[in-house]
Amino acid sequence: MKVFGSSGTRGVANEELTPGFVLRVAKAAGTAWGSGADGGAECIALARDTRYTGRMLADAAASGLASTGTDVDRLGIVPTPGAQAYAEREGVPVMVITASHNPPQYNGVKLVGPNGVELSVATLEGIEEILLTESFAVAPWDETGRVREVEGVRRAYVDQLLEAVDRENIADADLTVALDPGHGAGALTSPDFFRELGCRVVTVNGQADGHFPGRDPEPVPDNLEDLGRLVRATDADVGIAHDGDADRAIFFDENGEYVEGDATLAALAAAELEADDVTVSAVNVSQRLVDVVTEVGADLELTPIGSTNIITRIQELAANGERIPIAGEGNGGVFFPEYRLSRDGAYTAARFLELVAERPASEVVAPYGGYANVRRNVEYESTAERDAMLDAAANQANTSDAELNTRDGYRLDYGDAWVLARPSGTEPLVRIYAEAREADRAEELAGDMCDALTEAKVNA
Ligand code: MG
Repeated sequence: MKVFGSSGTRGVANEELTPGFVLRVAKAAGTAWGSGADGGAECIALARDTRYTGRMLADAAASGLASTGTDVDRLGIVPTPGAQAYAEREGVPVMVITASHNPPQYNGVKLVGPNGVELSVATLEGIEEILLTESFAVAPWDETGRVREVEGVRRAYVDQLLEAVDRENIADADLTVALDPGHGAGALTSPDFFRELGCRVVTVNGQADGHFPGRDPEPVPDNLEDLGRLVRATDADVGIAHDGDADRAIFFDENGEYVEGDATLAALAAAELEADDVTVSAVNVSQRLVDVVTEVGADLELTPIGSTNIITRIQELAANGERIPIAGEGNGGVFFPEYRLSRDGAYTAARFLELVAERPASEVVAPYGGYANVRRNVEYESTAERDAMLDAAANQANTSDAELNTRDGYRLDYGDAWVLARPSGTEPLVRIYAEAREADRAEELAGDMCDALTEAKVNA
Protein backbone atom coordinates (compact mmCIF):
# COMPACT_ATOMS: atom_id res chain seq x y z
CA MET A 1 0.00 0.00 0.00
CA LYS A 2 1.30 3.42 -0.89
CA VAL A 3 -1.21 5.75 0.76
CA PHE A 4 -2.46 3.80 3.76
CA GLY A 5 0.17 2.39 6.12
CA SER A 6 -0.53 0.04 9.00
CA SER A 7 -2.30 2.85 10.90
CA GLY A 8 -4.01 4.90 8.18
CA THR A 9 -2.44 7.86 6.41
CA ARG A 10 -0.66 10.68 8.24
CA GLY A 11 1.40 13.78 7.50
CA VAL A 12 2.05 17.40 8.42
CA ALA A 13 -1.27 19.18 8.00
CA ASN A 14 -1.55 21.57 5.03
CA GLU A 15 1.84 20.39 3.72
CA GLU A 16 1.52 16.64 3.10
CA LEU A 17 -1.97 16.18 4.43
CA THR A 18 -3.83 18.97 2.61
CA PRO A 19 -7.60 19.56 2.44
CA GLY A 20 -7.36 18.59 -1.25
CA PHE A 21 -5.82 15.23 -0.36
CA VAL A 22 -8.39 14.53 2.39
CA LEU A 23 -11.15 15.49 -0.07
CA ARG A 24 -9.86 12.83 -2.50
CA VAL A 25 -9.54 10.19 0.25
CA ALA A 26 -13.16 10.97 1.23
CA LYS A 27 -14.33 10.70 -2.39
CA ALA A 28 -12.57 7.32 -2.65
CA ALA A 29 -14.08 6.11 0.65
CA GLY A 30 -17.52 7.37 -0.40
CA THR A 31 -17.18 5.57 -3.73
CA ALA A 32 -16.13 2.28 -2.11
CA TRP A 33 -18.47 2.38 0.88
CA GLY A 34 -21.33 4.70 -0.02
CA SER A 35 -24.84 4.42 -1.39
CA GLY A 36 -23.53 3.95 -4.96
CA ALA A 37 -21.55 0.83 -4.06
CA ASP A 38 -22.91 -2.72 -3.98
CA GLY A 39 -24.44 -3.14 -0.52
CA GLY A 40 -23.04 0.29 0.35
CA ALA A 41 -24.00 2.47 3.31
CA GLU A 42 -26.64 5.21 2.99
CA CYS A 43 -24.61 7.25 5.42
CA ILE A 44 -20.97 7.60 6.46
CA ALA A 45 -20.04 9.15 9.81
CA LEU A 46 -17.18 11.58 10.30
CA ALA A 47 -15.27 12.17 13.55
CA ARG A 48 -12.06 13.94 14.58
CA ASP A 49 -9.68 14.40 17.47
CA THR A 50 -8.81 17.79 18.99
CA ARG A 51 -6.10 18.83 16.51
CA TYR A 52 -6.23 22.47 15.40
CA THR A 53 -6.48 21.44 11.73
CA GLY A 54 -9.17 18.83 12.46
CA ARG A 55 -12.13 21.04 11.62
CA MET A 56 -10.58 22.26 8.35
CA LEU A 57 -9.82 18.70 7.21
CA ALA A 58 -13.17 17.31 8.41
CA ASP A 59 -14.93 19.99 6.33
CA ALA A 60 -13.03 18.77 3.27
CA ALA A 61 -13.91 15.16 4.12
CA ALA A 62 -17.62 16.03 4.51
CA SER A 63 -17.64 17.66 1.06
CA GLY A 64 -15.88 14.71 -0.53
CA LEU A 65 -18.21 12.12 0.98
CA ALA A 66 -21.36 14.10 0.12
CA SER A 67 -20.20 14.57 -3.51
CA THR A 68 -20.39 10.80 -4.02
CA GLY A 69 -24.07 10.83 -3.07
CA THR A 70 -23.68 9.57 0.49
CA ASP A 71 -25.18 11.28 3.56
CA VAL A 72 -22.71 12.40 6.23
CA ASP A 73 -23.23 12.24 10.02
CA ARG A 74 -20.78 14.60 11.70
CA LEU A 75 -19.93 13.34 15.19
CA GLY A 76 -17.56 16.18 16.16
CA ILE A 77 -14.62 15.52 18.51
CA VAL A 78 -14.71 11.90 19.71
CA PRO A 79 -11.96 9.48 20.80
CA THR A 80 -11.28 6.95 18.03
CA PRO A 81 -12.75 4.13 20.19
CA GLY A 82 -15.87 6.30 20.69
CA ALA A 83 -16.19 6.61 16.91
CA GLN A 84 -15.75 2.83 16.66
CA ALA A 85 -18.48 2.31 19.26
CA TYR A 86 -20.76 4.55 17.16
CA ALA A 87 -19.93 2.58 13.99
CA GLU A 88 -20.75 -0.70 15.71
CA ARG A 89 -23.97 0.61 17.29
CA GLU A 90 -25.34 2.32 14.17
CA GLY A 91 -23.84 -0.05 11.59
CA VAL A 92 -22.24 2.77 9.61
CA PRO A 93 -18.61 3.24 8.50
CA VAL A 94 -16.68 6.12 10.06
CA MET A 95 -13.93 8.29 8.69
CA VAL A 96 -11.79 9.60 11.57
CA ILE A 97 -9.56 12.66 11.16
CA THR A 98 -6.73 11.94 13.61
CA ALA A 99 -2.98 11.54 13.79
CA SER A 100 -3.21 9.57 17.06
CA HIS A 101 0.08 10.10 18.97
CA ASN A 102 1.95 12.17 16.32
CA PRO A 103 3.07 15.74 17.15
CA PRO A 104 0.59 18.66 16.98
CA GLN A 105 1.43 19.73 13.40
CA TYR A 106 0.38 16.32 12.06
CA ASN A 107 -3.02 15.05 11.08
CA GLY A 108 -4.31 11.93 9.37
CA VAL A 109 -7.19 9.69 8.36
CA LYS A 110 -8.31 6.37 9.84
CA LEU A 111 -11.12 4.35 8.26
CA VAL A 112 -13.42 2.23 10.41
CA GLY A 113 -15.86 -0.32 8.98
CA PRO A 114 -19.57 -0.59 9.93
CA ASN A 115 -18.64 -3.30 12.47
CA GLY A 116 -16.49 -0.81 14.42
CA VAL A 117 -13.23 -2.42 13.32
CA GLU A 118 -10.40 -0.66 11.46
CA LEU A 119 -10.41 -1.66 7.80
CA SER A 120 -8.39 -4.67 6.69
CA VAL A 121 -5.40 -4.26 4.39
CA ALA A 122 -7.42 -5.79 1.51
CA THR A 123 -10.27 -3.28 1.90
CA LEU A 124 -7.85 -0.36 2.20
CA GLU A 125 -6.14 -1.47 -1.00
CA GLY A 126 -9.48 -1.30 -2.82
CA ILE A 127 -10.02 2.27 -1.61
CA GLU A 128 -6.45 3.16 -2.51
CA GLU A 129 -7.00 1.88 -6.04
CA ILE A 130 -10.01 4.21 -6.46
CA LEU A 131 -7.94 7.09 -5.05
CA LEU A 132 -4.93 6.54 -7.31
CA THR A 133 -7.02 6.06 -10.47
CA GLU A 134 -9.42 8.90 -9.45
CA SER A 135 -12.38 6.70 -10.41
CA PHE A 136 -14.72 8.53 -8.02
CA ALA A 137 -18.51 8.25 -7.96
CA VAL A 138 -20.09 11.61 -8.83
CA ALA A 139 -23.72 12.21 -7.79
CA PRO A 140 -26.08 14.51 -9.77
CA TRP A 141 -26.58 17.80 -7.90
CA ASP A 142 -29.94 16.84 -6.42
CA GLU A 143 -28.64 13.47 -5.20
CA THR A 144 -25.53 14.75 -3.38
CA GLY A 145 -25.46 13.76 0.27
CA ARG A 146 -27.03 15.68 3.13
CA VAL A 147 -24.69 16.64 5.98
CA ARG A 148 -25.99 16.74 9.56
CA GLU A 149 -24.50 17.15 13.02
CA VAL A 150 -25.13 14.31 15.48
CA GLU A 151 -25.28 15.28 19.15
CA GLY A 152 -24.49 13.18 22.19
CA VAL A 153 -21.96 10.75 20.70
CA ARG A 154 -19.43 11.28 23.51
CA ARG A 155 -22.11 10.73 26.14
CA ALA A 156 -23.28 7.53 24.45
CA TYR A 157 -19.67 6.29 24.40
CA VAL A 158 -19.23 6.94 28.13
CA ASP A 159 -22.54 5.17 28.88
CA GLN A 160 -21.45 2.15 26.86
CA LEU A 161 -18.10 2.06 28.71
CA LEU A 162 -19.87 2.18 32.09
CA GLU A 163 -21.98 -0.81 31.04
CA ALA A 164 -18.90 -2.79 29.97
CA VAL A 165 -16.83 -2.76 33.18
CA ASP A 166 -17.09 -3.89 36.82
CA ARG A 167 -18.40 -0.58 38.12
CA GLU A 168 -19.29 -1.77 41.63
CA ASN A 169 -15.90 -3.31 42.32
CA ILE A 170 -14.06 -0.17 41.22
CA ALA A 171 -16.41 2.19 43.10
CA ASP A 172 -16.00 0.19 46.33
CA ALA A 173 -12.22 0.67 46.21
CA ASP A 174 -12.55 4.47 46.54
CA LEU A 175 -9.70 5.16 44.14
CA THR A 176 -8.10 8.48 43.28
CA VAL A 177 -7.18 8.64 39.60
CA ALA A 178 -4.68 11.17 38.25
CA LEU A 179 -5.54 11.59 34.60
CA ASP A 180 -3.52 13.12 31.75
CA PRO A 181 -5.59 13.07 28.53
CA GLY A 182 -2.86 15.22 26.95
CA HIS A 183 -5.34 17.80 25.55
CA GLY A 184 -6.64 15.07 23.20
CA ALA A 185 -10.11 13.70 22.53
CA GLY A 186 -10.07 11.72 25.79
CA ALA A 187 -10.19 15.05 27.65
CA LEU A 188 -13.91 15.21 26.74
CA THR A 189 -14.83 11.70 27.87
CA SER A 190 -12.37 10.08 30.31
CA PRO A 191 -12.82 12.52 33.27
CA ASP A 192 -16.59 11.87 33.27
CA PHE A 193 -16.07 8.14 32.80
CA PHE A 194 -13.72 7.67 35.77
CA ARG A 195 -15.81 10.00 37.96
CA GLU A 196 -18.95 8.01 37.16
CA LEU A 197 -17.03 4.83 37.97
CA GLY A 198 -16.84 6.23 41.50
CA CYS A 199 -13.24 7.48 41.42
CA ARG A 200 -11.97 10.85 42.59
CA VAL A 201 -10.43 12.38 39.44
CA VAL A 202 -7.65 14.97 39.25
CA THR A 203 -6.34 16.04 35.86
CA VAL A 204 -3.36 17.63 34.14
CA ASN A 205 -3.50 18.72 30.47
CA GLY A 206 -7.23 18.14 30.86
CA GLN A 207 -8.54 20.78 28.42
CA ALA A 208 -9.22 19.75 24.82
CA ASP A 209 -6.71 21.97 22.97
CA GLY A 210 -5.46 21.36 19.43
CA HIS A 211 -2.21 23.21 20.07
CA PHE A 212 -1.31 20.73 22.86
CA PRO A 213 0.27 23.42 25.09
CA GLY A 214 1.06 21.10 28.03
CA ARG A 215 2.56 18.12 26.25
CA ASP A 216 2.84 16.35 22.91
CA PRO A 217 0.19 13.68 22.22
CA GLU A 218 2.51 10.67 22.53
CA PRO A 219 2.31 9.11 26.03
CA VAL A 220 6.04 8.41 26.52
CA PRO A 221 7.91 9.04 29.81
CA ASP A 222 9.53 12.32 28.68
CA ASN A 223 6.07 13.80 28.02
CA LEU A 224 4.55 12.56 31.27
CA GLU A 225 6.66 14.01 34.07
CA ASP A 226 3.79 16.28 35.16
CA LEU A 227 1.55 13.24 35.59
CA GLY A 228 4.09 11.55 37.87
CA ARG A 229 4.21 14.72 39.97
CA LEU A 230 0.40 14.94 40.05
CA VAL A 231 0.16 11.35 41.33
CA ARG A 232 2.56 12.16 44.19
CA ALA A 233 1.03 15.58 44.98
CA THR A 234 -2.53 14.22 45.20
CA ASP A 235 -1.62 10.87 46.75
CA ALA A 236 -3.42 9.20 43.84
CA ASP A 237 -3.72 5.42 43.52
CA VAL A 238 -2.86 5.41 39.84
CA GLY A 239 -1.90 7.75 36.98
CA ILE A 240 -3.46 7.30 33.53
CA ALA A 241 -2.28 8.95 30.29
CA HIS A 242 -3.85 8.76 26.82
CA ASP A 243 -2.52 9.53 23.35
CA GLY A 244 -4.23 12.13 21.11
CA ASP A 245 -7.18 9.95 20.10
CA ALA A 246 -7.37 8.01 23.39
CA ASP A 247 -7.13 4.49 22.04
CA ARG A 248 -4.10 3.90 24.26
CA ALA A 249 -3.53 4.03 28.03
CA ILE A 250 -0.21 4.26 29.87
CA PHE A 251 -0.01 4.03 33.67
CA PHE A 252 1.87 5.33 36.71
CA ASP A 253 1.80 3.48 40.02
CA GLU A 254 0.79 4.98 43.39
CA ASN A 255 4.38 6.16 43.96
CA GLY A 256 4.30 8.23 40.78
CA GLU A 257 6.57 5.74 38.98
CA TYR A 258 6.07 5.18 35.23
CA VAL A 259 4.92 1.63 34.41
CA GLU A 260 6.28 0.06 31.20
CA GLY A 261 3.47 -0.66 28.72
CA ASP A 262 4.82 -4.21 28.44
CA ALA A 263 4.38 -4.72 32.19
CA THR A 264 0.78 -3.49 32.05
CA LEU A 265 0.01 -5.78 29.11
CA ALA A 266 1.50 -8.73 30.99
CA ALA A 267 -0.50 -7.93 34.15
CA LEU A 268 -3.75 -7.60 32.21
CA ALA A 269 -3.00 -10.79 30.28
CA ALA A 270 -2.23 -12.72 33.47
CA ALA A 271 -5.66 -11.72 34.81
CA GLU A 272 -7.41 -12.60 31.57
CA LEU A 273 -5.80 -15.69 30.02
CA GLU A 274 -6.69 -19.29 30.76
CA ALA A 275 -5.10 -22.52 29.54
CA ASP A 276 -5.57 -23.10 25.78
CA ASP A 277 -6.51 -19.45 25.13
CA VAL A 278 -4.58 -17.64 22.41
CA THR A 279 -3.14 -14.15 22.62
CA VAL A 280 -1.73 -12.12 19.73
CA SER A 281 1.10 -9.61 19.76
CA ALA A 282 3.78 -8.26 17.40
CA VAL A 283 7.23 -9.77 16.81
CA ASN A 284 8.85 -7.33 19.24
CA VAL A 285 6.65 -8.69 22.07
CA SER A 286 8.21 -8.59 25.53
CA GLN A 287 9.49 -11.64 27.39
CA ARG A 288 7.05 -10.49 30.08
CA LEU A 289 4.09 -11.63 27.95
CA VAL A 290 5.95 -14.78 26.83
CA ASP A 291 6.43 -15.71 30.50
CA VAL A 292 2.75 -15.11 31.33
CA VAL A 293 1.61 -17.23 28.39
CA THR A 294 4.00 -20.06 29.32
CA GLU A 295 2.89 -19.98 32.95
CA VAL A 296 -0.81 -20.14 32.06
CA GLY A 297 -0.46 -22.74 29.29
CA ALA A 298 -1.89 -20.45 26.60
CA ASP A 299 -0.58 -19.86 23.05
CA LEU A 300 1.11 -16.72 21.74
CA GLU A 301 0.81 -15.77 18.05
CA LEU A 302 3.15 -13.12 16.67
CA THR A 303 2.41 -10.79 13.73
CA PRO A 304 4.36 -8.09 11.93
CA ILE A 305 4.41 -4.81 13.89
CA GLY A 306 1.26 -2.65 13.51
CA SER A 307 -2.28 -2.91 14.86
CA THR A 308 -3.83 -3.81 11.47
CA ASN A 309 -1.77 -7.02 11.42
CA ILE A 310 -2.86 -7.92 14.95
CA ILE A 311 -6.53 -7.32 14.09
CA THR A 312 -6.30 -9.51 10.98
CA ARG A 313 -4.69 -12.38 12.95
CA ILE A 314 -7.31 -12.16 15.73
CA GLN A 315 -10.07 -12.41 13.11
CA GLU A 316 -8.44 -15.49 11.55
CA LEU A 317 -8.03 -17.21 14.93
CA ALA A 318 -11.57 -16.35 16.04
CA ALA A 319 -12.91 -17.81 12.78
CA ASN A 320 -11.14 -21.05 13.76
CA GLY A 321 -12.99 -21.09 17.07
CA GLU A 322 -10.06 -19.95 19.24
CA ARG A 323 -10.74 -17.84 22.33
CA ILE A 324 -8.63 -14.64 22.27
CA PRO A 325 -9.56 -12.66 25.41
CA ILE A 326 -6.67 -10.18 25.13
CA ALA A 327 -4.07 -9.06 22.58
CA GLY A 328 -1.93 -6.03 21.87
CA GLU A 329 1.44 -4.35 22.03
CA GLY A 330 3.56 -2.80 24.77
CA ASN A 331 2.80 0.76 23.66
CA GLY A 332 -0.42 0.93 25.69
CA GLY A 333 -2.60 -0.29 22.83
CA VAL A 334 -4.53 -3.31 24.14
CA PHE A 335 -7.35 -5.29 22.51
CA PHE A 336 -10.06 -7.05 24.49
CA PRO A 337 -11.71 -8.70 21.45
CA GLU A 338 -14.73 -9.92 23.44
CA TYR A 339 -15.49 -6.24 24.22
CA ARG A 340 -14.68 -4.89 20.75
CA LEU A 341 -11.97 -5.57 18.19
CA SER A 342 -10.46 -2.13 18.74
CA ARG A 343 -8.01 -0.51 21.11
CA ASP A 344 -9.77 1.60 23.73
CA GLY A 345 -7.72 3.65 26.22
CA ALA A 346 -10.57 4.26 28.66
CA TYR A 347 -11.71 0.63 28.65
CA THR A 348 -8.11 -0.61 29.08
CA ALA A 349 -7.67 1.79 32.00
CA ALA A 350 -10.86 0.56 33.65
CA ARG A 351 -9.69 -3.04 33.35
CA PHE A 352 -6.45 -1.99 35.03
CA LEU A 353 -8.48 -0.25 37.77
CA GLU A 354 -10.24 -3.56 38.40
CA LEU A 355 -6.81 -4.95 39.32
CA VAL A 356 -5.86 -1.86 41.35
CA ALA A 357 -9.11 -2.26 43.30
CA GLU A 358 -7.60 -5.50 44.69
CA ARG A 359 -4.05 -4.33 45.47
CA PRO A 360 -1.76 -1.31 44.89
CA ALA A 361 -0.71 -0.61 41.30
CA SER A 362 2.97 -1.20 42.13
CA GLU A 363 2.08 -4.71 43.34
CA VAL A 364 -0.10 -5.39 40.30
CA VAL A 365 2.88 -4.86 37.98
CA ALA A 366 5.72 -5.99 40.30
CA PRO A 367 5.95 -9.54 38.85
CA TYR A 368 6.53 -8.01 35.39
CA GLY A 369 9.29 -5.55 36.26
CA GLY A 370 13.03 -6.05 36.18
CA TYR A 371 13.48 -7.33 32.63
CA ALA A 372 16.52 -6.10 30.72
CA ASN A 373 16.29 -4.79 27.16
CA VAL A 374 19.26 -4.25 24.85
CA ARG A 375 19.20 -2.56 21.43
CA ARG A 376 21.90 -2.47 18.77
CA ASN A 377 22.03 -1.22 15.17
CA VAL A 378 24.19 -2.56 12.36
CA GLU A 379 24.44 -0.27 9.33
CA TYR A 380 24.77 -1.47 5.74
CA GLU A 381 25.68 0.19 2.45
CA SER A 382 24.22 -2.17 -0.16
CA THR A 383 21.33 -4.61 -0.52
CA ALA A 384 23.96 -7.37 -0.87
CA GLU A 385 25.26 -6.50 2.60
CA ARG A 386 21.73 -6.35 4.00
CA ASP A 387 20.76 -9.72 2.49
CA ALA A 388 23.94 -11.36 3.79
CA MET A 389 23.14 -10.00 7.25
CA LEU A 390 19.59 -11.35 7.17
CA ASP A 391 20.85 -14.76 6.04
CA ALA A 392 23.22 -14.69 8.99
CA ALA A 393 20.29 -13.90 11.31
CA ALA A 394 18.41 -16.95 9.99
CA ASN A 395 21.54 -19.02 10.41
CA GLN A 396 21.78 -18.01 14.07
CA ALA A 397 18.47 -19.83 14.56
CA ASN A 398 19.69 -22.98 12.77
CA THR A 399 22.80 -23.24 14.89
CA SER A 400 21.02 -22.83 18.25
CA ASP A 401 18.04 -24.35 20.01
CA ALA A 402 15.98 -21.19 19.49
CA GLU A 403 12.56 -21.18 17.88
CA LEU A 404 12.59 -18.98 14.76
CA ASN A 405 9.78 -16.60 13.76
CA THR A 406 10.16 -14.81 10.40
CA ARG A 407 6.93 -12.82 10.22
CA ASP A 408 8.75 -9.49 10.40
CA GLY A 409 12.54 -9.82 10.52
CA TYR A 410 14.09 -12.76 12.41
CA ARG A 411 12.97 -13.39 15.98
CA LEU A 412 14.76 -16.12 17.92
CA ASP A 413 12.94 -17.34 21.03
CA TYR A 414 15.12 -19.17 23.55
CA GLY A 415 12.37 -19.81 26.10
CA ASP A 416 13.92 -17.60 28.77
CA ALA A 417 14.89 -14.76 26.39
CA TRP A 418 14.69 -13.60 22.78
CA VAL A 419 16.55 -11.64 20.13
CA LEU A 420 15.10 -9.96 17.01
CA ALA A 421 16.97 -8.72 13.93
CA ARG A 422 14.77 -6.54 11.76
CA PRO A 423 15.66 -4.18 8.89
CA SER A 424 14.57 -0.60 9.59
CA GLY A 425 11.76 0.61 7.32
CA THR A 426 13.27 4.08 7.01
CA GLU A 427 17.07 3.85 7.46
CA PRO A 428 19.85 1.62 6.00
CA LEU A 429 20.35 -0.44 9.13
CA VAL A 430 19.27 -3.66 10.77
CA ARG A 431 17.95 -3.18 14.29
CA ILE A 432 18.71 -5.80 16.92
CA TYR A 433 16.51 -6.12 20.00
CA ALA A 434 17.11 -8.54 22.87
CA GLU A 435 15.30 -9.09 26.16
CA ALA A 436 15.87 -11.35 29.15
CA ARG A 437 15.34 -11.33 32.89
CA GLU A 438 19.12 -10.98 33.38
CA ALA A 439 20.98 -8.05 31.77
CA ASP A 440 23.99 -10.32 31.00
CA ARG A 441 21.80 -12.73 29.08
CA ALA A 442 20.25 -9.94 26.97
CA GLU A 443 23.71 -8.44 26.29
CA GLU A 444 25.03 -11.86 25.27
CA LEU A 445 22.19 -12.54 22.81
CA ALA A 446 22.36 -9.04 21.26
CA GLY A 447 26.16 -9.26 21.10
CA ASP A 448 26.14 -12.70 19.40
CA MET A 449 23.62 -11.51 16.81
CA CYS A 450 25.56 -8.29 16.28
CA ASP A 451 28.81 -10.24 15.73
CA ALA A 452 27.17 -12.65 13.28
CA LEU A 453 25.65 -9.80 11.24
CA THR A 454 28.86 -7.78 11.22
CA GLU A 455 30.89 -10.79 10.07
CA ALA A 456 28.39 -11.52 7.29
CA LYS A 457 28.54 -7.88 6.18
CA VAL A 458 32.34 -7.92 5.98
CA ASN A 459 32.25 -11.10 3.89
CA ALA A 460 29.41 -9.94 1.61
MG1 MG B 1 -3.97 6.42 19.01
